[in-house]
Amino acid sequence: MKRILLIHTGGTISMSTDHRTGAVKPSAEHPLHEYNHLFEENLEIIEEDIFQLPSPHVTIKEMYQIQQRINQAIEEDLYDGVVLTHGTDTLEETAYFLDLTTDAPFPVVLTGAMRPIDEIGSDGVRNLQSAIWTALAPEAKDKGVLVVMNEEIHTARYVTKTHTTNVATFRTPTFGPIGIVSKAEVRFFQKLVFNETYPLEKITKKVSLVKAYAGMDSTLLDALAEAQIEGLVIEALGAGNLPPETLPGLKKLLDNNIPVVMTSRAFNGIAQDIYAYTGGGKHLKQLGVIFAPGLTGLKARIKLLVLLEQSLSEDAIHDLFLK
Ligand code: ASP
Repeated sequence: MKRILLIHTGGTISMSTDHRTGAVKPSAEHPLHEYNHLFEENLEIIEEDIFQLPSPHVTIKEMYQIQQRINQAIEEDLYDGVVLTHGTDTLEETAYFLDLTTDAPFPVVLTGAMRPIDEIGSDGVRNLQSAIWTALAPEAKDKGVLVVMNEEIHTARYVTKTHTTNVATFRTPTFGPIGIVSKAEVRFFQKLVFNETYPLEKITKKVSLVKAYAGMDSTLLDALAEAQIEGLVIEALGAGNLPPETLPGLKKLLDNNIPVVMTSRAFNGIAQDIYAYTGGGKHLKQLGVIFAPGLTGLKARIKLLVLLEQSLSEDAIHDLFLK
């Protein structure tokens, strides 16, 4: 008999529609509790509602709470896999946080839904089924935390939500999904070449994220330099460049020893120091900016939050972002 720990955290997958007003909201009883009969007889599913939040209400504190529960599950040594249901808006951030901070000997799979349970074509139960099948697949081990939505398997490190409402919203830009769920078959066809985990006793730092735009000046960066942040991620232009007028604000942050991590606002590709003009990647790197090739701004923020708890030198943080 296999055992899956199914942890619910909220999101559309746990909601239904008020047919009078059309509003989507949390149900009193988690609607997925009724669907246990859909899974194999030879499977025990242990369900826990750890909290019931729309994912815009999920903060790093709740992510840490989930991480603690998974670590407890590792110690309990009772489960063949953990499946987590989560709102889709911030699912990729929770998934990557867990990827960086848990080292489970079993698969950890996140899923959610774009449509509430009572809407025509609702994807929740199907996504849950695919996530459970994936968690049970022996090949799902050692691939880091996985996100299963719409019959695709993505790595937590690279997946992102790309559409506000469509069920085919979760995508992995540049690299694509690492597997698919086709009927009941789980098939992997790519492997994550690199995985990293860090110990974590607490999560306390304040790291902000801003997106660069044409004609951006130092207004936001000046405000952040005053705001006592402990780290900043900038989604830069193109391969990793900033408008020259941002440089006074950027220098203020760097002079205050605030680590500044550069990703790209472009959907595909990686951030790199290529250009040598004022504000170009080469110039930014000389100033001390850290490049995070391959990560989105959201993921780089999570990684910086985790690395800042590790008491590392600035050089070590630089090196770990290059991985
Ligand atoms: N706003 C919802 C949430 O993230 C969306 C969803 O779950 O799909 O909780």
